Amino acid sequence: MPKKPLLEFNQNGIYCAAGDFYIDPWRPVNDAIISHGHSDHAKWGHKKYLAHTLSREILYYRLGDINLETMDYGQSRIKNGVKITFFPAGHIPGSAQIRVEYKGEIWVFSGDYKTEDDGLCTPFEPVNCHSFISECTFGMPVYKWAPQKEIFDGVNDWWAQNQKEGKTSVLAGYSLGKAQRILQNLEMNLGKVYTHGVIQNSNEALIRNGINLYPTTRITPETTKEELKGNMVICPPSAVGTPWMRKMLPYSFGYCSGWMAIRGAKKRRAADRGFVLSDHADWDGLISSIKATKCDTVYLTHGSTASFSRYLQGIGYDAKEAKTLYGNEEETEVENVENAKPSGREALPLGEDLGEAL
Ligand SMILES: [Zn+2]
Ligand SMILES: [Zn+2]
Repeated sequence: MPKKPLLEFNQNGIYCAAGDFYIDPWRPVNDAIISHGHSDHAKWGHKKYLAHTLSREILYYRLGDINLETMDYGQSRIKNGVKITFFPAGHIPGSAQIRVEYKGEIWVFSGDYKTEDDGLCTPFEPVNCHSFISECTFGMPVYKWAPQKEIFDGVNDWWAQNQKEGKTSVLAGYSLGKAQRILQNLEMNLGKVYTHGVIQNSNEALIRNGINLYPTTRITPETTKEELKGNMVICPPSAVGTPWMRKMLPYSFGYCSGWMAIRGAKKRRAADRGFVLSDHADWDGLISSIKATKCDTVYLTHGSTASFSRYLQGIGYDAKEAKTLYGNEEETEVENVENAKPSGREALPLGEDLGEAL
């Protein structure tokens, strides 16, 4: 009888039968190891959670009073003889690759990852393994990111230009990870940075976790048009096109996303400026990371799994597509922008919505 794989994909998530735990399960389970705080990976309803220390406050903020244990990169836990270790994934603060070892066999689940050091999260570190479960959100050769410095020079020039024209700069980026990466790369001498409540809440959670962020001011009903003028506003994509934006008039609207690399995306999202900025690895980043693990087998989760697995097979890997429910977080926000309606936003804790977060 063939040996059972150390990690398998079942109806609940990625399961380790030997250790009797799940990784990033999408249905409620007893024992969940969580790679990072995005809503497609960190679901509500598990009995026990294990996540990276820097995910702690975000998980409490988003999921409420959960039974959470945390550990740092390089630390390990043993569950039924299976050793679990976290390594940096470079995706958002606290994002971890999860290395699982049992009887000499090593698997690594990448979670979401990016290879460029963004100055905000601990940089990605390749981990040797036999089997690598990789995301491939941007697993097509058209996705090739410019260096972060170049992108933010463009963002800051755009801000300065808007200021000259007497406009407020409104920049949309996903509320956890992207928004803070934007903030930390703004030219703070240009003016003040204001935030949508959803972003301010995420910032405050990260600050409670000991992460240093530049100061920002929450936009409230008392905030006036005049004080915003010439300054920068960071908002989640879901706020775009809602009445909340009226206060920013006259404004220029920019959108930060890896999807901006696709022709027509800027127009569909009604953005004046599109900045191709992603927290996922691009084509070269995916391939170099997979090679660096020295693995034989690759399982591909969200993204262009079919074409990317064929490519990997062509260069000698045993590559397979895996069925998961990951990868819908940013897409959900993008859809909201396109439909410009306030419903169906990212999953937020009870009682918090755009109405309250003004
Ligand atoms: Zn993510
Ligand atoms: Zn994901």
